[in-house]
Amino acid sequence: MNWDDEFFLAARIGLAALCFYAGHVGWRMGMGYVHHPDRRLRGLVGALLMVLVGLLHLGSGLDEGIRKAGIQVELINWVWLGVDTLVPLFFLRMAHAFAARDRLEAQLADAAEHDPLTGLPNRMGFARMAEAVLARAARQGQPSVAVMLDIDHFKAVNDGWGHGAGDTLLRGVAHAAKGAIRREDALGRVGGEEFAMVLPNLTPEEALPLVNRMREVIMTTVPHPGAPARMLTLSAGIAAVAHSDAAALEAAFNAADAALYAAKEGGRNQARIAGAA
Ligand code: GH3
Ligand code: MG
Ligand code: MG
Repeated sequence: MNWDDEFFLAARIGLAALCFYAGHVGWRMGMGYVHHPDRRLRGLVGALLMVLVGLLHLGSGLDEGIRKAGIQVELINWVWLGVDTLVPLFFLRMAHAFAARDRLEAQLADAAEHDPLTGLPNRMGFARMAEAVLARAARQGQPSVAVMLDIDHFKAVNDGWGHGAGDTLLRGVAHAAKGAIRREDALGRVGGEEFAMVLPNLTPEEALPLVNRMREVIMTTVPHPGAPARMLTLSAGIAAVAHSDAAALEAAFNAADAALYAAKEGGRNQARIAGAA
């Protein structure tokens, strides 16, 4: 055994360590670090291969070292070691690219379902959330209600104080509404100044005081740009959701829309239940 041998042995142990590290990264990928199922599987298969390659280098390296075989290390041995080093490096590069792509896809999916102005779920994101909330309530044998919430005379804010003030008001209303709902409720911005909610475990009559309290909280915490002469007010329409499917949800929101229209006709700044006189 000469210095060359020992240096070669140390390099092989280093390579084995690199392989084990790559195996660890692959294992983490496979166990949920990335979301895409194909990429998870590749992570696990890669982890297995990396550990095998690592064990091979560690085992045969130690074996040569312990037996002090005195094999003359030749240039070709170094070349092969270099080639073998590319395997974990390539795997680590691939794992990094997979994770980056996974993150990007998650960001895109998130952006597709959220409104950039308020951060609330948009129509698409809300539909998905609402159906999940409905299904959970239905499993528990509980009723749910659909609520449409609309800012009164919002156009006047844009016209009188500018679009920027309108945007600020929308963000304020979204923030306050988010703070006022329960954990189990679904809330989204489904139109310019229209917010939709699904409130589980409630009948419309039980939801009415809750919605009124929510309107009150929003109205008292979000300042109108023309305050104190003007005050923010909101109108709401409430309807029962008959079943837990998408068609029933759409029907309930149509009814809630009609109730909202009645609230507007009735002088705004109020909540109405669909079908009530
Ligand atoms: P009503 O009391 O009957 O609800 O009247 P309104 O003025 O609130 O409702 P209307 O539907 O007439 O006007 C809604 C306005 O909301 C019109 C549109 O320009 C504005 N709007 C829609 N989206 C945005 C937005 O993202 N930012 C701002 N600043 N304005 C918006
Ligand atoms: Mg409005
Ligand atoms: Mg409107």
